[in-house]
Amino acid sequence: MSIAQNLAVIRDEIRAAESDAAHAAQSVRLVAVSKFHTADAVAEAIAAGQTLFGENRVQEAAAKFTELAARSLPFELHIIGTLQRNKVRDAVKIASCIQSVDRIELLQEIEKQCAKIGKTIAVLFELRTGEATKAGFSDYAALESAVALCAHGHFPHVMPRGLMTMAPNTDDQEKIRAAFRTVRETRDKLAGAYPALPLTELSMGMSGDYRIAISEGATMVRIGTAIFGARDA
Ligand SMILES: *Cc1c(COP(=O)(O)O)cnc(C)c1O
Repeated sequence: MSIAQNLAVIRDEIRAAESDAAHAAQSVRLVAVSKFHTADAVAEAIAAGQTLFGENRVQEAAAKFTELAARSLPFELHIIGTLQRNKVRDAVKIASCIQSVDRIELLQEIEKQCAKIGKTIAVLFELRTGEATKAGFSDYAALESAVALCAHGHFPHVMPRGLMTMAPNTDDQEKIRAAFRTVRETRDKLAGAYPALPLTELSMGMSGDYRIAISEGATMVRIGTAIFGARDA
C-alpha cells in the first residue's frame, strides 16, 4: 500500500477509536513518525494531507525538514526522541514542540536557546512507563519539580502542554493499557495541582498500540511503521 493509502486507513481507525471512546471527532492528532525515511516519503505524506511529523534525531530531522522547507511544503515538526543538551540549539530552530523532556537540565537549555532566538516552544514531559532502559521521568516527585519550575515562571520561553510516554514493549494488552492509564492519571493530578498550566496533551500510542492509547485518552498518537513501512534500524 502507498503512504496515502496507509494514512487513509489510520485516519479511519483513529476516527473509529475516538467514537468508541466517546471522544469528540478530530480530537486526536496524528503525528507521522518519519525517522529513517526520506524527504520524498515525507513529501508524499504531505501531499496526502498530513502536516504534523515526529523525528527522534535532531541532525536527521534538520537535514530532511530544511530540504522540505526549501520546497515550500507545509509541515509542523515535533522532536520525540531523547535529546542531548548539545542538540537543543538545532532542535528548537526546527521544531514547534519537544515531546521528550526528561530532566530539568534540558528545560534550562531549551529556555536558554529559545530566549536567544525569541521563540516560545511547547514541551511535553516524558514519563517512563516501560523498561528501565527507556527515557523519561521515573517518579512523580521529579516530574512535579520540573512542572513546578515552569509554573513559577522559571522558563518563560517554554510552554508545558502535557505528558508523553512509550508503553512497555510487551504483548500484554492489559499492561499497555495500565501504562497509558497511569500517564493520564498523572496528567490529571498535575493539571489539578497547576491549573494555570495548559496540561491538556497526552502523547501516547504507536503503530502497535494506538487504539488502546486513544481509549485511555490520548490526544496525540505517534505512528511510523504503519504509515511509512518498516525501518532498517
Ligand atoms: C519510532 C517512534 C515511534 C513510532 O513507532 P512505530 O512503532 O513505528 O509506529 C513513536 N514514538 C517514538 C518516541 C518513537 O521513537
